[in-house]
Amino acid sequence: MKKSLVALKVFILSSCVNQSSYDQGAIRDQITTKETKVILYTLANDDMKGRDSNSGGYFKAASYVTEYFKKHNIAPFYEAYRDSLVTDSIVSFNIVGQIGKYNPKRKTILIGAHLDHVGIQNIEGDNVFNGANDNAAGSTAVMQISRFLALHSWEKNIIIALFADEEKGLKGAHHLANRLKDENVDLAYMINFEMIGTVLTSGENQVYMTGYKMTSMAEEMNRVSPNFVQFLPEAKELNLFRRSDNYAFFKAFNIPAQTLSSFDFKNFDFYHKPGDEPERLALENMNKIIGTSAYTLARLLEKNTSIKLFPNEDK
Ligand SMILES: [Zn+2]
Repeated sequence: MKKSLVALKVFILSSCVNQSSYDQGAIRDQITTKETKVILYTLANDDMKGRDSNSGGYFKAASYVTEYFKKHNIAPFYEAYRDSLVTDSIVSFNIVGQIGKYNPKRKTILIGAHLDHVGIQNIEGDNVFNGANDNAAGSTAVMQISRFLALHSWEKNIIIALFADEEKGLKGAHHLANRLKDENVDLAYMINFEMIGTVLTSGENQVYMTGYKMTSMAEEMNRVSPNFVQFLPEAKELNLFRRSDNYAFFKAFNIPAQTLSSFDFKNFDFYHKPGDEPERLALENMNKIIGTSAYTLARLLEKNTSIKLFPNEDK
């Protein structure tokens, strides 16, 4: 009797673990517009002075992210979460966390976004470039997704990174990518979030992917969440693949490393302007994008989906 009770308990426990506690309904409860709003508005507040290292605002934003990670069980990947670098004579740092315990024998995925923006500029009137869409929005996504993923355990290592100095030429991402390469991290793929605060012209709860045709990532994500990932011709024409932090990881590792974004040049007039404020963003839709991304990544991790890089395929 006792034995069978124990067996029953084990059965119930293991079925709880195996049964997806991350179905889409659960995610709607766990990733809420309310919390998305709190994070976005904090990162894009005037107090953060446009999140540039020169203004000091970046460091304040970084403290906020670090506290969030501590609170939600995302451990430091480097001491004090810091991967330090010097840009324009100022020491700055990427914030790097991990989910679960890092095992060097396992494959790793990396989820990232740049936290920095262009700071305070010497202009009349409102001179704080809040960078709500660029890229408090992507940073919010990475924070929410990592909090959610930290509720479960995964076979792959998951590194979470918020990059410094993207606006100064992807400096933070290049620094981290090269460091991870030197440390022989076995990176399988990287997903980057950029400007997801507005509704893609083709429809709600959609993003486009840079380097869409270079890898099987879009196809695999759409297999989980149909029509979520779109192809944007302008992304290819303007070679956006090389214009955000994903590129640093493609370059260092030659792996699928791509950006998800919903800024399609038609749906936001405040790119790199002081008017890039949180009030202008479509919060509900942004939260849906975050939830769908979290769900999709969880499924890819659960199924151990491998993402293929197509050699010589155009972008
Ligand atoms: Zn950006």
